[in-house]
Amino acid sequence: MKFGGTSVATGENIRRVANLVAESAKQGNGVVVVVSALNGTTDRLSEAAEKAKKGNDEYVQKFKKELLERHLTATAKAIESKQLRKEVEQMIEKTLDELEKVLTGISYIGELTPKSKDYVLSFGERLSAPIVWGTLRERKLEAQWFTGKEAGIVTDSDFGEASPLMNVTAHQLRERIAPLLEKGVIPVVTGYIAATQDGVVTTLGRGGSDFTATLIGTALAADEVWIWTDVDGIMTADPKIILSAKMLPELSYQEATEMAIFGAKAMHPRALEPVMKENIPARIRNVFNPENPGTLISNEQTAEQRDVVKAVALIRDVAMINVSGAGMVGAPGSYAKIFEVLGKNGINVMMISTAVSEANISLVIRRNMLGRALSTLEIALLGRGLVSDVTAEDDVCVVAVMGANMKGTLGVASRLFTTVAHAGINIRMIAQGSSELNISFVVKEKDGEAAVRAIHEEFKLDNA
Ligand code: ASP
Ligand code: MG
Repeated sequence: MKFGGTSVATGENIRRVANLVAESAKQGNGVVVVVSALNGTTDRLSEAAEKAKKGNDEYVQKFKKELLERHLTATAKAIESKQLRKEVEQMIEKTLDELEKVLTGISYIGELTPKSKDYVLSFGERLSAPIVWGTLRERKLEAQWFTGKEAGIVTDSDFGEASPLMNVTAHQLRERIAPLLEKGVIPVVTGYIAATQDGVVTTLGRGGSDFTATLIGTALAADEVWIWTDVDGIMTADPKIILSAKMLPELSYQEATEMAIFGAKAMHPRALEPVMKENIPARIRNVFNPENPGTLISNEQTAEQRDVVKAVALIRDVAMINVSGAGMVGAPGSYAKIFEVLGKNGINVMMISTAVSEANISLVIRRNMLGRALSTLEIALLGRGLVSDVTAEDDVCVVAVMGANMKGTLGVASRLFTTVAHAGINIRMIAQGSSELNISFVVKEKDGEAAVRAIHEEFKLDNA
């Protein structure tokens, strides 16, 4: 069971978490708990690291106090026993003393490397796990808490977005966690955190606690991995746009991955890799509504899974770049050049479209990267005979339509684009990968919500 940041945001919420775990354990289940940081903590740690880098060590003190207060308040609300509370408080204080040293060090050197940043970011989960541990202990449950590093998750040294070395990780997780379960102990593991082979702390990328949970679930051959969050499950659309949006009771691994990637924010994009490989079902569930069975993600094909279009998402904060030039036509390596320039400058390309004429390529990137993308493209490409123009639009958004059964079903694209046309919306760019799992297109930002609404209605997604 993995509990996200909102699930452990306050002492009251942590009690709720402990009750859910206790209930399941009392039914005879072996449970491993994976916890995120209290919501917002990882963002705050990231800000603090940046401020420390600028030499602001007064802020370090203020920040330490802020974290101390928040975590002590949560502890006081979550745990009644004085003895247990004291134990947890001491752990929190000790961890925060360490954080203070790290941030002070950064402020003295004035340098923040990806490596030291990961170390700072690891503190959120190191502060939440002991509170969850104490709250479980108070319910007379045997529990032990670990960092992901101590649990045995080993990664490469791609700090900020490290990749687990699957074999050694699975082996160590089994060796360290399985015996505890056999003894009836509940292991509480910090999500998101791991370490390189040499023991240097890494993180699995933002939202990485989901990945921690599926890694552990897979290593232990769990019956199911439950991702507890603050919504009922994966929805047909953002309920803020579509009031009648419905929860999807079942999805395939591919569909859920697609949704995680195209911004439904349901999950870490790589979280389903391990469970998909071993065919272990995952379930998204709501801590605040545990009666709801949530969204089951598995390989089963059921009636619901026959629907062609399952969900539609709106991705804002993007920009579209158009690179054009007759010099690109029939010139091998011209696209490679564009991507190389962007890649080397840390600009991620979300969507691509070109025509067979080859004289034009359109790219979608995050909007906050637009300035950098344009300047690097101009410096590297213009005036060299290949590219004659680089233009951009920053008032656009992406609409992504998803469903595994679009694959091989005729007429989905035509129905989709007819619907958008009838809504009077002009489409600026289209991409459909040959996986046919999703069709994405770009429209002006002001038209985004209307496009989502029209599609949701046309494909009757609220009858899901
Ligand atoms: N605390 C980390 C984050 O905010 C990891 C997680 O919550 O999954 O990204
Ligand atoms: Mg998350």
